[in-house]
Amino acid sequence: MQVTNASNVREVDPASGRIQRSNSLVEDVYEAIFAQLMSLKIAPGSRITVDSLVKELEVSHTPIREALGRLEGEGLVLKTHLIGYRAAPQITRRRFDELYELRLLLEPHAAAKAAASMDEAKLAVLEESAGGMARRDGKDERLRYSNFARQDAIFHDRIMEFANNELVRETLAFQHTHFHIFRLMFHSRVTEEALDEHQAILAAFAASDPAAAEQAMRRHIEHSRDRLLPAFD
Ligand SMILES: [Zn+2]
Repeated sequence: MQVTNASNVREVDPASGRIQRSNSLVEDVYEAIFAQLMSLKIAPGSRITVDSLVKELEVSHTPIREALGRLEGEGLVLKTHLIGYRAAPQITRRRFDELYELRLLLEPHAAAKAAASMDEAKLAVLEESAGGMARRDGKDERLRYSNFARQDAIFHDRIMEFANNELVRETLAFQHTHFHIFRLMFHSRVTEEALDEHQAILAAFAASDPAAAEQAMRRHIEHSRDRLLPAFD
């Protein structure tokens, strides 16, 4: 049931009877499904039925459809006419190799450019986006993993922003690289090691050292590739 007032749409949660702001409900539903996709609880390529999510998450169809629409825009969910939704299939080995080749061509160079024009304000932005990737805490592991994937995407995107080439930035953003690669494997090693590599990149930025930033970024992407390669065995 939806109740509209002057400023926003409110939805009554049939399970708890609580009235929630509709946009925060969609956000919560989105996060829940996103975490299931990233942690492979929803297997790549598998069907996603709105009715089963309605039961599981105890919300109505509307926020689920909205959340699925957003995930479709991010390449994580596919919608087929008459069939419905399914999780995007896992990327192929070939696609994986292509993605990493693309990243290695673009990101180390961009990191060098970002380092060359680094200032305190930009450094603070980068440190903050890296800081959001907390190490293990008590939180739900699935949620932690999906948060890390998103934060990693933001951290790399910010570096591309400061490299000052919108075309490069868009090209990488359009691939939704981080969502696809993190879905290859649900493993804490993937995140723990990346944090140290991010620190090395940040140190190079703090020193405004383009050569060090280029090298640290290249090493991070190569290590990321090596960590995820066993997923294809
Ligand atoms: Zn990273």
